[in-house]
Amino acid sequence: MNQLTYRLEPNDAERLVVQQAIENYIQSFLTQLPSLPAFVDTPDKGAGLLESPISENPIPIDQALALLKKEVDEPGINSASGGHLGYIPGGGLYYSGLGDYLAAATNKYAGIFFSAPGAVRMENQLLRWMAGLIGFPENAAGNLTSGGSIASLIALATARDAQNITSRLIPDAVVYTTAHAHHCLDKALRIAGLGECPVRYIPMDEQYRMQPEALSEAITQDKAAGLTPWLIIASAGTTDVGAIDPLQAIAAIAREHSLWYHVDAAYGGFFALATSGKSRLAGIELADSVVMDPHKGLFIPYGSGAVLIKNQKQAAETHHYQAHYMQDALSAIEEASPADLSPELSKHFRGLRLWLPLKLHGVAAFREALEEKLTLARYAYAQLQQLPGFETPVEPELSVVIFRYVPQQEAMDTNAFNQKLIKAVQADGRVFLSSTMLEDRFMLRMAILSFRTHQPTIDLALTILQEKAKELELNWEA
Ligand SMILES: *Cc1c(COP(=O)(O)O)cnc(C)c1O
Repeated sequence: MNQLTYRLEPNDAERLVVQQAIENYIQSFLTQLPSLPAFVDTPDKGAGLLESPISENPIPIDQALALLKKEVDEPGINSASGGHLGYIPGGGLYYSGLGDYLAAATNKYAGIFFSAPGAVRMENQLLRWMAGLIGFPENAAGNLTSGGSIASLIALATARDAQNITSRLIPDAVVYTTAHAHHCLDKALRIAGLGECPVRYIPMDEQYRMQPEALSEAITQDKAAGLTPWLIIASAGTTDVGAIDPLQAIAAIAREHSLWYHVDAAYGGFFALATSGKSRLAGIELADSVVMDPHKGLFIPYGSGAVLIKNQKQAAETHHYQAHYMQDALSAIEEASPADLSPELSKHFRGLRLWLPLKLHGVAAFREALEEKLTLARYAYAQLQQLPGFETPVEPELSVVIFRYVPQQEAMDTNAFNQKLIKAVQADGRVFLSSTMLEDRFMLRMAILSFRTHQPTIDLALTILQEKAKELELNWEA
């Protein structure tokens, strides 16, 4: 009997065997990574995993790792690869993984100050550091979330309550943004019960940035019509083209009309660490709430977003948590508890996956890596401008480069050609690029944000693009 109940606690020797096997696996993954493809489209797409059902009986670690390698790590996008240049690439810092290991093995309960004062202090220290990066006050509220989507939900729910948008008002409570705002904001509005708010998509300039004059006009018109404007959502780095809306001008309009000003900096926010990025983000400090994703611009593995809300009281009003069984915890309020600023109660101790790499590498290393991404984007843009046939309609503000190939022969439909081009690049797999639409133009995107992406990766991507475009032109069948 005892033996069965104790089986969940491996002894020292058993622990080391499994740990060593996992460490060997990771070492070999990281050593091979530069030569691994960035995208693999396997026929069964990991379905082999299901042949090993969850069962009563254990399997050895080697068998578990073999399943993981073949069915999980190989198929799909290799998001640890520097060749991942699609969507918004993530990172996967090794020390962050070790931070997760520490957090999980010690299993600190980081939701409440009373139970883990040091862990909560660490998370709040990280959030204060982020607040400092974007010019927010030290006493701003903040929460480390699983990603930008939950961070956005926290921000918009707070905005709703701070602006007193009660159910009766919702059909007339107008939201202002652009067609390039991330879809997670639309989702957050719906989850927060605000799906019936009218949304005005403000026209953008030729660089896909919100036009402040048009915003101002729309608000004035809505007010004259008896509606209740309440929220402006601006982007500091759109996913499509990496554009930054004119943050200062929009802030002035938000203030003039007393609207909540939310800035989605999930992708662009950490460029505040780079000198050339910081000046572009000027005005972000005027927002009421900001979202930024450490799993993007800080190269942390997936599962790390952050929200900052300037007025701590407003954030706490929406999210505070009380229960009789929590009465011991409520007496200690030296530091704000994550549970009071988030829909979550029990949660992963996310601070450690950020703190460890920041401490072990130092912030300067992050600054340099982010400068490099901005330089690489300018480099890719300049190269594409030189290459015959390629068209680059938007100068990159951050690290997304958008382009397409315009074939010489008129018989070739440009959109159809670029659809085939992206398929060919993805099938090749040495790098992974994605696509989007700009109005009715099918565009290719190169999003440069992995800490493992350096100039040779960009050169390789450009070579592959030219090769594939040429092949398609030679073998075109409409
Ligand atoms: C990635 C992204 C989001 C959503 O964040 P998740 O971390 O994927 O939930 C929101 N806005 C922008 C601009 C993004 O790039």
